Parts: sequence; structure tokens; C-alpha cells
Amino acid sequence: MNIFIMGAPGSGKGTFSTKIKEEFNLNHISTGDIFRANIAGGTELGLQAKAYSEKGLLVPDEITNKMVKDYLNTLEDKKNGYLLDGYPRTLAQAKAFEEMTEGTDLAVEKIVYMDVPFDELTRRITGRRTCKKCGEIYNIYSKPSKVEGVCDVCGGELTQRKDDNEESLKVRLDEYAKNTEPVIAYYEEKNMVSRIDASKSMEEIWPDLKEALKNK
Ligand SMILES: [Zn+2]
Repeated sequence: MNIFIMGAPGSGKGTFSTKIKEEFNLNHISTGDIFRANIAGGTELGLQAKAYSEKGLLVPDEITNKMVKDYLNTLEDKKNGYLLDGYPRTLAQAKAFEEMTEGTDLAVEKIVYMDVPFDELTRRITGRRTCKKCGEIYNIYSKPSKVEGVCDVCGGELTQRKDDNEESLKVRLDEYAKNTEPVIAYYEEKNMVSRIDASKSMEEIWPDLKEALKNK
């Protein structure tokens, strides 16, 4: 089964990707990993991508699309398919990928959308605090430390990541929604989307997800 997993920052996409990968024996990769591998390996696409990002420019879709396809082609162990995280980011990428893979065993079959309302994402992200010393993660709303600002585990100081404030989060979420909503709508028209209510707890989400992937 070939899957794209989509979801905003804070939707739990990363955590559930790992679980899906293990349960269904899939190759799991994020586009970030593909970029880094191409740049580290000095491939032609990697060099081109690097040139764009060094100038502070977005890497053009053609380069991203080709990197993703090349990567999927090099998978020796096809396992039961792939789980791709962070792609496609735009409708143009979705359509280009379809064109490149239509009728091949690389074509995507299912889109998992981790759906969380924005106010819940905001709580999850702006509430996040991390221990400077041991890295333990808290949330002032859902998993507060016993003493405010102090780590339960080691007594270290809890800090908030700079990007996790409300203003910069809103920019990230708006940007995400603007790009992603047309992609979801596109696949929904093709009846390929499993919309998972990811505002629930981890324990409740997992059975829903497994069920959705079994009823392909
Ligand atoms: Zn700590």
C-alpha cells in the first residue's frame, strides 16, 4: 500500500507515521530526509536544491518531484509499499506526482489526513515546554509539570521554543492550510482520503487509523 500522510504541525503525524510503518511494514520517509540525502550525496538534484535554498529561495516543484520519484525508484526492499510524509505540499506537486507515477507500482493509493482543529493545534504547540537539561516535554494545558517552569524529572528549567508562540504559529498554520486544502480536496474528489479525527487522544486515534488503512 502506498500512502501519503498529511497533517499540520502538531497533528501527531510524526508519531503515527512510526506506528503505521511498523504495523504495515512500509518504507517510511519524509521529504526532509530525501532532501538531506541528496544534498549529502552530492547528486545533481541535490546540488540544484542546495543552490536554491542557499539563496533563500524555495526549491522548485520539478526538483522536489524528481527527487521523490528517484528515491522511491531506488528502494530495493519494496516491503508492502511506502509511507511518505511531507509531500505533496502543493496541488501542483500532487498533480505532477500523479503524472509521473500513473499506472506504475509507485502510484499513491491512500491519503491519510490527520485532522485537528486549529485551536487544538494552537494549544498543543503554544503550550509546549521542554526541559533544557534532560529534554523531557510538557504541555501547560494537557501535561503540566508539578511546579510551573520546573522539570519533574530532573529539576531543570522548562523553556518554550521561539517559534512556538501564537503569532508565528498562525503564520505557519495559515501557510499550511493555504497549500494543503486544495491537495486534500483534489484527493477527496478521487475518494482516496481517510480523514482521521486527530484531536482525540493517542489511544483513541490509533484504532481509527488502523481501521481506515485496512479498509483500503
Ligand atoms: Zn528535565
